[in-house]
Amino acid sequence: MGEDRLFEIARRSFDTPHFHGIEFIEVEAKSIINHVPGNYLPFNWTINPYRGCAHACTYCFARVTHTYMDMDAGRDFESKIVVKVNAPQLVRRELRAKRWKGEHIAMGTGTDPYQRAEGRYKLMREIIGNLTAYRNPFSILTKGTLILRDLDLLLEAASVTEVSTAFSIGTLNEDAWRKSEPGTPHPRKRMAAVKKLNEAGIPCGVMVAPILPGITDDPKGLREVVVAALDSGATHVSPILLHLRPGVKEVYMRWLEDAYPDLVPRYMSMYKKAYATSGEREAVGGEVATILRSLGGVKNPGAPRRPRGGPRSVPGVARSEQDPPPEQLELL
Ligand code: SF4
Repeated sequence: MGEDRLFEIARRSFDTPHFHGIEFIEVEAKSIINHVPGNYLPFNWTINPYRGCAHACTYCFARVTHTYMDMDAGRDFESKIVVKVNAPQLVRRELRAKRWKGEHIAMGTGTDPYQRAEGRYKLMREIIGNLTAYRNPFSILTKGTLILRDLDLLLEAASVTEVSTAFSIGTLNEDAWRKSEPGTPHPRKRMAAVKKLNEAGIPCGVMVAPILPGITDDPKGLREVVVAALDSGATHVSPILLHLRPGVKEVYMRWLEDAYPDLVPRYMSMYKKAYATSGEREAVGGEVATILRSLGGVKNPGAPRRPRGGPRSVPGVARSEQDPPPEQLELL
């Protein structure tokens, strides 16, 4: 648990259209459950089996992490995907450790665990299996409809611990989606996945995120997303206005100049700092809140599930370590 040191073991590319132009850098990590410093986020621990993401969202705040490995935050981030191939084994080892107290673990907070690479490497199946074996509460935030592949495992996990999911769906506008998130599944397909998860009994919310000023922040478009989210049984609908940290801002602004040149002056004045002003953030939040209220609000707020049945025996783990985990922090 702690620092994320990586040791490269192989580089691969695969001769299928799905993985065209993508290089996979297979590494062994020293640890996998990472502590989140400070208390500004509603979770303390994360697991990120991948670095880089072929979903290629132009605004992705994780882009900057690629520069820590002598790669760039632009095309390298999208096409050189670091795969922590020993992630499942590390999860098991770290959950078994005496010092681990069974806290909530958030996934999808760095890069997307259900990005395309997961279709080949299948790390999440084993990770979820290990979290289930130790009855460790977790949440997953994704744009990848591939999560449905693991619905059976999510249901098994939810029968013994607290599980929640959320999809990021900032817009249903076809043009904005194609331009800003070119590697992601269609937002309507993501919305369908939200519905499927909720119908199956896995709480799934919608992050209306990020909302891109001048591109996806029009009231009509926001209403369209909120209506679809409510129709999909979303357990929450949470808006977040775009922020642009150094390193990501450069990539985003280059993209903006090409895709929406008229908006460049507006962004230059709006993003002198990483975050828009509180007034601008509150205006967007208020807009979504008003839409939600006008539609009657979320029908099924996602109360975390309580573990069902008795404590599950975990081979090789003392009974005291198998006690129910502490109260889950609500991530999503
Ligand atoms: S899906 Fe998430 S991690 Fe992947 S590029 Fe988009 S914002 Fe980044």
